[in-house]
Amino acid sequence: MNRNRTYQEILKENEFLQAQLEETQDIINAIKMGEVDAFIVKNKNSHELYTLKTADQTYRLFIEKMTDGALTINKEGIILYANSSFEKMVNQPTGSVIGLSFHDFIPEQFKIKVAKCVDYSWTKECRCEIFLPGQDKQIPVLMSMNKLEIENETALSIIITDLSFQKEAQQQRMALDRKDEFISIASHELKTPVTTIKGYIQLLQMGYKNQADDNTSLLLSRADAQVTKLTRLIEDLLDVKKIETGQLAFHIEDFSFNDLILETVEEMSRGLSVQKIIYHPGMDCIIEGDRLKIAQVITNLIGNASKYSSSETTIYIKTVITGNRVRFYIKDEGIGIPPDQQDRVFERFFRVKTQGENTYSGMGLGLYICSDIIKRHKGTVGFESEINKGSVFYFELTIKK
Ligand code: ADP
Repeated sequence: MNRNRTYQEILKENEFLQAQLEETQDIINAIKMGEVDAFIVKNKNSHELYTLKTADQTYRLFIEKMTDGALTINKEGIILYANSSFEKMVNQPTGSVIGLSFHDFIPEQFKIKVAKCVDYSWTKECRCEIFLPGQDKQIPVLMSMNKLEIENETALSIIITDLSFQKEAQQQRMALDRKDEFISIASHELKTPVTTIKGYIQLLQMGYKNQADDNTSLLLSRADAQVTKLTRLIEDLLDVKKIETGQLAFHIEDFSFNDLILETVEEMSRGLSVQKIIYHPGMDCIIEGDRLKIAQVITNLIGNASKYSSSETTIYIKTVITGNRVRFYIKDEGIGIPPDQQDRVFERFFRVKTQGENTYSGMGLGLYICSDIIKRHKGTVGFESEINKGSVFYFELTIKK
């Protein structure tokens, strides 16, 4: 309600506020004089008691529980405080290092390096990387040293971060880089001879076609199928290199999605002597994209559905149009993918561990390439899978018309 307050009312309010201010001032003075032991703070549902002791305890517990090693040393290098993570890093029992010399816990080969860093850090923050003994194996660590000023006393705080995880990740990255480099060279070198062999096989096939030599023709068509497999493998490797360097080129055109699926399914059915593929074309649509690359995705998904299923099962393919998007589904009745590894199957070189790496051939590149091709078409890929029941992989693209 809006009304003008009277002079008396304002005076009363002023007195009330004045009293509150004085009370607050008294509290501040009491805190300054060390006369306050505790605060009770009223929260929504409860009252909480805060004491200086609990605040200090919380802080100590936090330092004690952190995975980084934390310690303070004095000018003489004597440890004033150390948490249990530091004690683990130097393989000492809990509570045994306080009062001892920090330098005694540094391995011989790093003593000079650490001593220099300690000296320097009394003037400016200093960091150094060394190895500490650890409990069962040496651990790479980063030491960060800072001067602390506490009530006219000076000490050095040292935070020690375990770098094992980062170093491992770095090594994995380097191994992956080496793998990439080897693959890049090998695939380039293999491409020309394999293409030439394929050419010769096709020439021989033409020659034997007219001679009614069934046995030789059969052997030649088997050789051709194997060389085709090898060519696909090399192309996958070259594609990965191109994806990594952003050089995978796309040739965009309009095409019928149904025609492309039919063609690919027919071609794959000829190659797969095992499972039956069931595809009933639904409503057709036009896609604007790289026809060959989308065919490559479908080929790959059919190849996987077949590879990871037993021969007496069936592979089902369908498409569903929703609004301006079309989704391609491929369902198999195969071995499925364990839930704990599902989020990694689109990673480069990833292969499911429990499936028996030697039972199924492959390099863990197909899905990585598929996902890149679909993403470059502004589409999405995904799957659902259940162990020993099967998987449904899908990708979705925008329809042009
Ligand atoms: P790979 O050449 O190993 O088949 P992919 O990139 O195509 O490589 O697939 C990655 C991994 O995902 C495979 O090694 C396999 O473990 C798993 N996977 C892919 N598709 C299927 C599927 N349809 N059923 C079961 N596991 C699959």
